[in-house]
Amino acid sequence: MTKFSSKKILLLAGAGHAHIGMLRRLSAERLKQTDTTDADIHLISEQPQTIYSGMLPGWMAGHYQLHDISIDIKSLCMRAGVRFVQQSLVQVNAASNKVVTTGDEQTDFSYDVLSLNTGADTDMRWLYDQNDHRNNGNNSVDREVDAGTVGSDANTDVIAIRPLSTFITQWQQVLKDAQQSEKYQLAIIGAGAAAIELVMAAQVALQKINRNHQVTLVCGENLLSGFNSGFRQRVVKQLYRHGITIIRERATDYCDGKLSTTHKSLPINAVIAATGVIGSAWTDSTDLEIKGHGFIAVNHKQQSISHSNVFAVGDVATRVDKYVAHSGVHSVHGGAIEADNLLAYLKDSVMKGYQPKTRTLYLLSCGDKYAIGSWGNVNLQGRWVWHLKKYIDKRFIEADKD
Ligand SMILES: Cc1cc2nc3c(=O)[nH]c(=O)nc-3n(C[C@H](O)[C@H](O)[C@H](O)COP(=O)(O)OP(=O)(O)OC[C@H]3O[C@@H](n4cnc5c(N)ncnc54)[C@H](O)[C@@H]3O)c2cc1C
Repeated sequence: MTKFSSKKILLLAGAGHAHIGMLRRLSAERLKQTDTTDADIHLISEQPQTIYSGMLPGWMAGHYQLHDISIDIKSLCMRAGVRFVQQSLVQVNAASNKVVTTGDEQTDFSYDVLSLNTGADTDMRWLYDQNDHRNNGNNSVDREVDAGTVGSDANTDVIAIRPLSTFITQWQQVLKDAQQSEKYQLAIIGAGAAAIELVMAAQVALQKINRNHQVTLVCGENLLSGFNSGFRQRVVKQLYRHGITIIRERATDYCDGKLSTTHKSLPINAVIAATGVIGSAWTDSTDLEIKGHGFIAVNHKQQSISHSNVFAVGDVATRVDKYVAHSGVHSVHGGAIEADNLLAYLKDSVMKGYQPKTRTLYLLSCGDKYAIGSWGNVNLQGRWVWHLKKYIDKRFIEADKD
């Protein structure tokens, strides 16, 4: 058991968008000597660096290097006066204010206040169901089938988009395999904005290697269901401009180099799943109240509805009072309110609610320095939209670089 000092302990688990914002804030306050936080703060994260998802498609398409899309969490912690612990969270026992982590060894940490920002896993249930694995009905999700070993042939892996650090290595292997192939066929499964960005970035990258290489989007019937129809039409035109094959059927299985959809069987060298999110594996064994498939149930203050000294924000959490999409934007904005609330909770003062804006700017990159934007019902597109996205993304990633 690790106990650090007599001060209260604020434990930050995960280095998602919200905790990056919190670290930046603490670091700025420390510089200006305006920091009034009277607590020992510790951050637990699997990696000393975190990959920024908004720029990942740009990296795949060759516009950025890996260091351009990475944030150095360890240095940020140092500047913020926060102790960095490179471990993975595996259990939260909220009744006894303890978390369990693994890394070099299993460790228990006590906390007074806990903030969770560990993101989520890729939802692979479309594949689990095919393999006869079912949700066991008590809020925990059956994860027995590992995406890396699905199918009768161990070489026919499905690549999950999350965790991003694993995806990075797997994408580099895809490029190597494509370099050895005369006609490489890649399928991307998903119908959301992330899948669309990935498919166009992948097509640009593979076609640079060989014009015979081809990417297929398997998206079911509800492509970009959360967006207006004008935006969807613009996206479909861009997919056709890139020569991407679109299959509006559900993927059901991938094995022995064959991808099965509702009515088809396609020869495919590799499959990437960007099929939405599901709660992280560690949420299976927590006593925190869960909503949906493994998400921590929180109120408008981003506070657990079952344990008032636990807060959660970003993809790991789900609001119980209203629908808020799982997205980086809400992790950043909800995270700013959550940071205020963590500090308020420690001082026993009044907390705020997070009221998401009714309209958010969404910029979707189209692979080749071209982008489509949507803000409510207003749609935009062009090279200048890509440059606007680049400017916004760089401002986020470089906020603490000198
Ligand atoms: C290709 C792609 C493009 C996207 N583009 C956009 C976009 O343009 N705009 C937008 O709003 N959203 C976008 N999204 C969605 C967005 O990435 C997520 O909603 C967002 O990353 C969620 O942020 P988060 O703060 O919850 O956590 P994450 O960004 O997922 O970060 C979680 C962090 O916690 C760490 N972690 C995870 N598990 C553990 C553990 N057990 N123990 C310790 N540490 C752990 C991880 O290593 C990571 O550093 C995109 C997603 C993808 C895949």
